Amino acid sequence: MKMISILGSTGSIGTQALEVLEGLKGTEWECRVAVLAAHSNVELLERQIRAVRPQAAALFDPAAAKDLRERTRDLGLPVLSGMEGLCQAASWEGADLVLNAVVGMVGLEPTLNAIAAGKDVALANKETLVAGGALVMEAARKHSVSILPVDSEHSAIFQCLRGNNENQVEKILLTASGGPFFGRSRRELESVTPKEALAHPNWSMGAKVTIDSATMMNKGLEVMEASWLFAVPPEKIQVVVHRESIVHSMVEFLDHGIIAQLGTPDMRLPIQYALTYPRRVPGPMKELDLFALGKLTFYPPEREAFPCLDIAVEALKRGGLVPAAVNGANEQAVGAFLRGEIGFLEIPALVEEASVRQKADSPVSLEAVLEADRAAREFVDSKRRR
Ligand code: NDP
Ligand code: MG
Repeated sequence: MKMISILGSTGSIGTQALEVLEGLKGTEWECRVAVLAAHSNVELLERQIRAVRPQAAALFDPAAAKDLRERTRDLGLPVLSGMEGLCQAASWEGADLVLNAVVGMVGLEPTLNAIAAGKDVALANKETLVAGGALVMEAARKHSVSILPVDSEHSAIFQCLRGNNENQVEKILLTASGGPFFGRSRRELESVTPKEALAHPNWSMGAKVTIDSATMMNKGLEVMEASWLFAVPPEKIQVVVHRESIVHSMVEFLDHGIIAQLGTPDMRLPIQYALTYPRRVPGPMKELDLFALGKLTFYPPEREAFPCLDIAVEALKRGGLVPAAVNGANEQAVGAFLRGEIGFLEIPALVEEASVRQKADSPVSLEAVLEADRAAREFVDSKRRR
């Protein structure tokens, strides 16, 4: 039986992954859970532990970890904590595959630890590839492990590429829902509130990725993610706004034939595909009713109202540590926006400034990525204090 560790088990992706595993129970694809890890949600993690009985658990926050240790004393399972604990969770001996579903750049070191321990990684944590794509892909090659995409667009591309030659790809057509503010002008975006930005039309996700969808930084991060995962340069990745979120992405080949992957917007499909790959198995996802749908629409992205997309693509082109700086600045700015400290349009402004400040030609190492991330966050904080 495959043993799976879930980092970020209490989040949107993590809880859906546990639903997928529940659905596989009693089938020949049943998996067991090695470790569950989260930041500080003790109540939910305790319930998950009692339901799936992992070999260990981890909470990043030390006080929450202490609390969990006391609450689960009857079970006698090790409760790890801090970054060290998260990395131990990622490289836990009993696991075959690690689903990394934490939010943010904090997922980079655990990903590298999982790879170094020879585990396949199902990757939802896109910030890992944005900030440390070169390190992660190189480590995966060195240790012969698979990086299985969980992000719906990247899972779609991965599925479209199966049975085809990656050298014959003309371009990737990366679909975007357009988020809650599709069609609005830059001026109309000036006064939008966190509450409005958190109301995504098609997907129910964690707060950070939902705000990223509203600014379209999410699509920018996904261009970077696709570029690393599929070794495709930014010029060959075209963003296509597709309001219905039914076509999850497409690959165009040299003969201009296009292969697309379609389905109802349900993250449990890409999660399950990554967990059971290379097999396709039944799951809780609903059938797509094409007749009820009637038609599908496609638009070019609005680059002026949503500058984050171009800021991200430019960062990818400049390379080096620039994507890490863009990611760090964005995480910090999104946090500030969610707390009501800055306006919506200050997110792209701060991220762009942080990006320009980052030198492109510095060598990429884990220490350098962590430093670029730290400096970009500090820059955003210093601008806000003024
Ligand atoms: P959520 O905010 O819903 O969940 C985040 C999870 O990460 C929680 O379990 C949280 O724990 C945990 N976490 C946060 N910080 C730490 C930390 N320092 N150490 C350990 N665990 C931590 O996020 P989502 O599930 O929405 O997103 C997760 C990732 O997946 C993101 O990178 C996102 O971009 C990507 N993604 C998400 C999609 C979605 O549909 N949700 C779609 C495609 C990609 P706690 O609950 O204790 O705070
Ligand atoms: Mg996505």
